Amino acid sequence: MILYIATSNPGKLRDFAIATKELNVELQPLPGLTRIPAPVEDAPTFDGNARAKATYYSGYAPDQIVIADDSGLEVDALGGEPGVRSARYAQDAGFTSDKPVSADERNNLYLLSRLHAVRQEKRGARYRCVLAGARNGVSLYTGEGSVEGEILTSPRGEGGFGYDPLFYLPSLEQTMAEIDLTTKDGLSHRGRALRNLLFAMYAARAPR
Ligand code: IMP
Repeated sequence: MILYIATSNPGKLRDFAIATKELNVELQPLPGLTRIPAPVEDAPTFDGNARAKATYYSGYAPDQIVIADDSGLEVDALGGEPGVRSARYAQDAGFTSDKPVSADERNNLYLLSRLHAVRQEKRGARYRCVLAGARNGVSLYTGEGSVEGEILTSPRGEGGFGYDPLFYLPSLEQTMAEIDLTTKDGLSHRGRALRNLLFAMYAARAPR
């Protein structure tokens, strides 16, 4: 089965490539994605944004299933922030850094500044991901996944992307940026969401 994925985020694409390696599914980037104007992501939930993106992008690949994800970090001590605003957390807050940093580093610096007075045992957080599949402008399937962790006081590890160097997995005693991609796939919000989406698709097709 071929599914078209509407993301150009290299970190997400790497995660999806590993997630589908052992499955009977080929995930291909949506043809021409870079030329398609990005839709506004203004829904208050991951589910709403994922459905809106999948519905929108499916209009560019007639009769094909197009999948899109919305994901982010929820920090308990911040009442669930940054949530759906994870990608633009520092930018929305007008947070700047003295050094030239990437958008991910800027988000991490801002997150650390927001949590500077919070003790380690209160730094619980989770990543969440919702994947939606749509065809011809109609949202058909969704799959959700999450993973629990804690936010460290300084970054660790070179892998992953986004908040991964700060996202610590107590059971492995490593951050998401320290574990290999196959381990990440087994436990990550994105790997889980993909398996749940595929399950929903197969369940909908199975004869009753
Ligand atoms: P969006 O799904 O494109 O709106 O962006 C989600 C944002 O959440 C990313 O830009 C990252 O900042 C963060 N995020 C989502 N998933 C991950 C992950 O697996 N690792 C690190 N950061 C993530």
